[in-house]
Amino acid sequence: MSECLFCRIIAGQIPATIEYQDDRLVAIKDINPQAPMHLLVLPRRHVAGLNDLSPGDDGLVGEMVRRAAVLAAEHGHAERGFRTVFNCNADAGQTVFHIHLHVLGGRRLGWPPG
Ligand code: AMP
Ligand code: ZN
Repeated sequence: MSECLFCRIIAGQIPATIEYQDDRLVAIKDINPQAPMHLLVLPRRHVAGLNDLSPGDDGLVGEMVRRAAVLAAEHGHAERGFRTVFNCNADAGQTVFHIHLHVLGGRRLGWPPG
């Protein structure tokens, strides 16, 4: 059994609220939402983080970003706006080392981020 939390969620071994899935991606609700909409877009294939991407992953990352925009639109946040975030390693606060794109919306988001 994988020790990776998100691999286990993708495999159905740990429950999560699934918002979208296809053969390459799964999108779930964040368990500790930081905005009215807080989703995580995950690739099914385990990639630890941004530093582990290769040129062959460019299409996958594009799908993640485009899916984030579609999900934000489905939640009604396309017009007012939303934010996508990849945290990478300690200084950015990455806690789960299976790459994921945060999709946040539904409130005014501060800048710069903390
Ligand atoms: P990061 O800090 O960028 O690595 O983000 C990890 C995110 O995963 C955090 O926003 C957590 O709230 C979220 N998270 C942790 N465990 C779960 C879980 N079991 N289901 C859904 N989201 C989770
Ligand atoms: Zn994983």
